[in-house]
Amino acid sequence: MVPLLKVMDHPLSPGQVKVGVMDDPSINAASAGNGEFLVTTGLLQKANDDQLRAVLAHELAHQDLNHVQKTQTLGTGLSIGMIILDQIIPGSGNLTPIAGELLLRKYTRGEEYAADKHGVQLLQRAGYPGKQMMADTLSWLMQATGGSSGGFLATHPGTADRIAAVKALPDP
Ligand SMILES: [Zn+2]
Repeated sequence: MVPLLKVMDHPLSPGQVKVGVMDDPSINAASAGNGEFLVTTGLLQKANDDQLRAVLAHELAHQDLNHVQKTQTLGTGLSIGMIILDQIIPGSGNLTPIAGELLLRKYTRGEEYAADKHGVQLLQRAGYPGKQMMADTLSWLMQATGGSSGGFLATHPGTADRIAAVKALPDP
């Protein structure tokens, strides 16, 4: 995630970023604004490195584009249980769960397209094959969360269309 922070239109230093881990088996992530992000334990357990990177690029894009999700109920509040970025590397056993339910507003479809597109740009600026990674990750999200009403697709609508839109982006 750190290489992605540097290439944002409004770069963040790792010290400005906090990532909260929700103890929730569904796959989801959110941008809470001000460099604060939320991920679920389901995401950390089920995503491979590239998928996690693409999801985080998408969330960083929401932040970069000022699409802030208002986190409505986070139980004990954002400051409790926040951990620093480096600790969410997959395999780390030292995650601090946040009590409470991830209840977030849905992004609009337009915001989703914009965050996918900008997430691809961030990945490309950091040297990754962004289009491929984002399209593959969206396909994985559809499979991994298919049929369930919660998780990433509940707060990030329109995934099939989004895959097509990502594939239609110009090559770098
Ligand atoms: Zn989104």
